[in-house]
Amino acid sequence: MSVEELRTIRTDLQKRYDALCAAGLKLDLTRGKPGADQLDLSAPMLSLPGDDYISPSGTDCRNYGGVTGLPELRAIFGEMFATGAERTIALGNASLQVMHDIIVFSLLHGNVDSEKPWGAQPIKFLCPVPGYDRHFGITEKYGIEMINIAMNPNGPDVDACAQLLADDPSIKGMWLVPTYSNPTGYTVTDDVARRLLALDAAADFRVFWDNAYAVHTLVDAAPAPLPILDMAEEAGHQNRVYVFGSTSKITFAGAGVAALASSQANLDWFTRNISAATIGPDKINQLRHVQFLRDADGVRAHMARHREIIAPKFQLVLDILEDRMGDAKIASWTSPEGGYFISLDVVDGTAARTIALAKDAGIALTAAGSAFPYKTDPHDRNIRIAPTFPTTDELRTAMDGVATCALLSATEVLLD
Ligand code: PLP
Repeated sequence: MSVEELRTIRTDLQKRYDALCAAGLKLDLTRGKPGADQLDLSAPMLSLPGDDYISPSGTDCRNYGGVTGLPELRAIFGEMFATGAERTIALGNASLQVMHDIIVFSLLHGNVDSEKPWGAQPIKFLCPVPGYDRHFGITEKYGIEMINIAMNPNGPDVDACAQLLADDPSIKGMWLVPTYSNPTGYTVTDDVARRLLALDAAADFRVFWDNAYAVHTLVDAAPAPLPILDMAEEAGHQNRVYVFGSTSKITFAGAGVAALASSQANLDWFTRNISAATIGPDKINQLRHVQFLRDADGVRAHMARHREIIAPKFQLVLDILEDRMGDAKIASWTSPEGGYFISLDVVDGTAARTIALAKDAGIALTAAGSAFPYKTDPHDRNIRIAPTFPTTDELRTAMDGVATCALLSATEVLLD
């Protein structure tokens, strides 16, 4: 394209952008929250458990006790995550809190394989990028150095992990969202998982396997969850993995139930530590989840209803991206088969500018760099799109606006 052509395009885009600003929009594509219509799917759960407060296994859920959660819910989670009921416990309302607590316990006491507390020396975590901002927020808060690792369509770059781990026993952990990762939608393959589990690393190195989107498929069937605890055992590292999940984006976000699955030694260590803080989880909420979801098939049937609502929103975003930016070749994006996000890469050096332009036009996008440790996107190119929360009309307007902002930013650098 000649400079003249590019100038003409920029002038057109500027007009389009001025019109966008004049429209007085107030739209929000920031967080991966379920829409109200999705939350309505679980509304009947609010009238449970009613008078039926004794769990099927005979626990009076109104009373204290049972720090590892109701066995019936452990069975549901155990199937969803392919971890089995015995190695899976049901906890409070947020898996993020469980991840946080495990890191704090490890810093204070070390884990079952540590010679000394993690906090006794500077330590590091491997962070597949782009990744989940709140993971990186925890490690940043506790002064744990974060190292970027590329997140590829089949999972993290294991060769890079191997090199780093072999040379550095101060690397104690790794964040990983194995299914429909936040924000790329990538899913870790069996092969990558096996290689990761077999790597030489410090004995107390742990993979934080956050399977938040295990059942959140946008296609006919979610990938079968990898039996990651069995695989870790086979690799001779049975304590290496903590599996996390929750019903936050199945029933109610922030009012669901969290799960932790791991080796017996790790679970004993966790329950010993958490028992100082709590006599047990909210079993009334656990029971209403058991009564409402019934079993893993019930979860999958419920997720199919979510899919009906959100799959068209994902398609709409992809259609707008293709329509507005497909020919220009100034951006690339993921086409996820599940999860809550689409990861958009614009021209290097223009993500922050695109996000700022969108903000001035009344379209809130997740802050630039959010999907990277220290909020620093080394190429300033990644934008996380969260299609679920806005209505379809809002989403259409917002995405069209985002495309205008990305194209305008691209012409600015190209003409610079
Ligand atoms: N893990 C990932 C990868 C997420 O994307 C989210 C929410 O967006 C969470 C965990 C939060 O889960 P919870 O509500 O169980 O704390």
